[in-house]
Amino acid sequence: MPAGRKTSDLALMRVGNQRRNRQVATWRDAAICRDGAVGIPGLSRAERVCYTRSCTRTTMSDPVPAERRLLRSWKSIAAHLEVDVRTAQRWHKKTPLPLHRPSLERSHPVVYADELDRWIRESDVRGQTAPERARRGGRRALAAAVIVVAIALAGGAYILRPERAGEPHRAVIDGGVVSVLDARDRECWRRTVEGASGAPIVEDVDGDGRKEVLVDVAASASGATSGRLQCFDANGRERWTFVYGRARSWYGREFSATYGGRFARHIRTPRGHAVLAVAWHNLWFPAQVALIDSASGALAAEYWHPGGLRELAVMNLDGDEFDEVLLAGINNPGRGLGHGVLVALDVPFTSRELAYVVLPRPDACSVLGEIPFVNRLANEGANVVAGVRCGDATWLYTFNRALELVEMRPSDNVTALHRRLHQQGLLDHELGDEEEACLRHVAWFPTAPDGNSASLARLWAKCE
Ligand SMILES: [Zn+2]
Repeated sequence: MPAGRKTSDLALMRVGNQRRNRQVATWRDAAICRDGAVGIPGLSRAERVCYTRSCTRTTMSDPVPAERRLLRSWKSIAAHLEVDVRTAQRWHKKTPLPLHRPSLERSHPVVYADELDRWIRESDVRGQTAPERARRGGRRALAAAVIVVAIALAGGAYILRPERAGEPHRAVIDGGVVSVLDARDRECWRRTVEGASGAPIVEDVDGDGRKEVLVDVAASASGATSGRLQCFDANGRERWTFVYGRARSWYGREFSATYGGRFARHIRTPRGHAVLAVAWHNLWFPAQVALIDSASGALAAEYWHPGGLRELAVMNLDGDEFDEVLLAGINNPGRGLGHGVLVALDVPFTSRELAYVVLPRPDACSVLGEIPFVNRLANEGANVVAGVRCGDATWLYTFNRALELVEMRPSDNVTALHRRLHQQGLLDHELGDEEEACLRHVAWFPTAPDGNSASLARLWAKCE
C-alpha cells in the first residue's frame, strides 16, 4: 500500500469525539473496515464496532497529521483548487481525485485538503491549470500587495499562511503521545507510543545530518514486557527498537528479562556513532549498560553491573584520542545498602571495567537506612567530582582523570547531621578525625566486587 494511502486511512481514524491519545489504530486495522467507512459522520453500528475493535487491537500508530481539513462537496473542492466546479469534475474524469466516499453518502465526494494539494502537485492536470492560475494569481498578488501596504501603513502585524514545520528540535510526551516540534514550536509530527516516558532525545545520533528522536518506553507494570528504546527518523518513521535486558542468572539467582531504561546518551566511538543506554531490572539490582549501534539499533557491546547506575560522564580518562565512559551508582547485590561506585569503561566496552572505584558508606547513610548512591557526577576543571548523598548531607569526592582521589570534602551540614543522629541515639559517637580519614579511603578493584561483602565492610569498619 502506498505511503499516501497509509496517511489517509489513518486520518480517517480521527473520529471527532475520540481523544487524541486514543488514536491507536494502524492503517492495517483501518483497512479491515469498509473503505471510507471510518471516521466519516453517519457511521452504521457495524462500522463503529469495527472502529472500536481496531483501536483496541494495537498500541502503535503511524504519524497522524496535526490538523486536516475535510472537503465534502464539489463546490468546496473547486474552491480549494481555485477553479469552477465543472473544471474540477473534468479533471477528476481525467485523473481521479483522491476521494473517500462514505458508503452512506455515495453521491457526495469527500477529500482531505492536504491530499488534494498533493494530487494537484503530482497529477498532470497541473499544466492545464497554468493559464487559469496565472490569471487568478495576478489578481491575488495585486490584492495581497494592497493589503500588505495597508497593514504596514497601519503599523500592524500581518499574518502569513501557516508554514510547514522545520526540522525536529525537541519533543514532548503527553498521555502517550509523542509530539516532535521544530525550533519555532511548530509540530513536525506526532505519534502515539503507549508507555512513552521521560524526555525524548532529539539529536543526530547516527551522523546522517538529520535529527532522530529517541523515545523511552517503560516496562509494563505487570512485568510482562520489558522497556525499550525506540528510534524515529526526522519524518517520524520508526527506524529501530532496542528492547532492554534479557533473562539471565547472576549471583546465584535467576532474573527475568524485564528491564526499564534509566537514561540514554548519544556518544562517539572509534567505530562511529552509538547510543549508550542504561537499564535497570524492574525489581532487583542488575543493571544493563548497552552500547547500541545508532544506525541499526543492534547491540554493539554490553556491560552488566551489580547495582543501579544513575550518572554518566563521557570524558577522556586515559589521554588517548577517544573518550571513555564514567558511570556512577551503587553496588548492592543481595542484601544490604551496598557502596557507592564509579565505573570506568573503555568504548566500545567489554565485559571488563577499565577501572572500578568503591567509596565508603558514611555511617549517617547506614543508620538512616539510605542507599549511598553516587548520585552526582560533575566535571570540576580537569577533575571529576562524585557526590554521595544521605539525609540532606553530601560527601563530595574529587578524582583526577586517573581516578585517583584528590580530596574528600563533606558538605557544610554533614557535621550537623552527624550531631543530630548522635543526639537521637542513632549514632554512638561524635564525628572525629579518625572517621573523616576513614571516609577518605576509597578502594580500587580490577572488576566489580560484591558491594555487600564482608571484606568490603572490613575496609571501612571505623566509619560505616
Ligand atoms: Zn560517625
